[in-house]
Amino acid sequence: MTAATTINARNNRGTQTAGRSPEELRELVSHWGAELELAPAEDIIEWAVATFGARFCVTSSMGDAVLADIASKVAPQIDVVFLDTGYHFVETIGTRDAVQATMPVNLVTITPVQSVGEQDATYGKDLYRTDPDLCCKLRKVQPLADSLDGYDAWATGLRRAETHNRVIAPVIGWDAKKGKVKVSPLARWSNEQVDSYIAEHGILVNPLVYDGYPSIGCWPCTRRVAPGEDPRSGRWAGTNKTECGIHS
Ligand code: SF4
Repeated sequence: MTAATTINARNNRGTQTAGRSPEELRELVSHWGAELELAPAEDIIEWAVATFGARFCVTSSMGDAVLADIASKVAPQIDVVFLDTGYHFVETIGTRDAVQATMPVNLVTITPVQSVGEQDATYGKDLYRTDPDLCCKLRKVQPLADSLDGYDAWATGLRRAETHNRVIAPVIGWDAKKGKVKVSPLARWSNEQVDSYIAEHGILVNPLVYDGYPSIGCWPCTRRVAPGEDPRSGRWAGTNKTECGIHS
């Protein structure tokens, strides 16, 4: 049975039991980082579940459900954390709802402290135009950091093939900003491997992926890309910004 929870970031502080110390977590990273570098994604998730138990979660931006599928097969009802910025395409929310309805996961939706309307009232309308870094901090980086309070380790679908910023992304890394172990089971996967896994396992995919949006973020900051264009070029197009700050 699928479960679902929605948590506003302002209500998610100090409610979880304590986990391992940063020193213990860093020790795990230094030991297991090299050990698991070439391991299959399923084995990496198995290690994380065995090591961290309920203090491990998977995050998803709902571009597709590849990582959620692998994780839910290893650990049914695993927490899958989705960050609802308030600026998502309706197709992204639909993909989240489909994952929630059809997959054996505990879908945890995180919302920023302020609604879009409250943010407009505080900082001025359309902060994504005037200060996108602050907008990302308020609607993505801080809510995710707050939501990870109850975990020692988090998994992300980040892949080295996505951007030049990610080519050295470790499979098991230390996320110093969050003080967590960051697990990237798909880090070594090529685009072709992702496509094969989707076809072979009938994985849910955000319909925008097939409509010219190979990389999907908030609607004000994502545009369609032409065939052959850098898949990430549709994100914050026309600016120097390439990352929201969650992975940098
Ligand atoms: S991607 Fe754009 S709309 Fe979304 S949080 Fe960042 S600046 Fe705001």
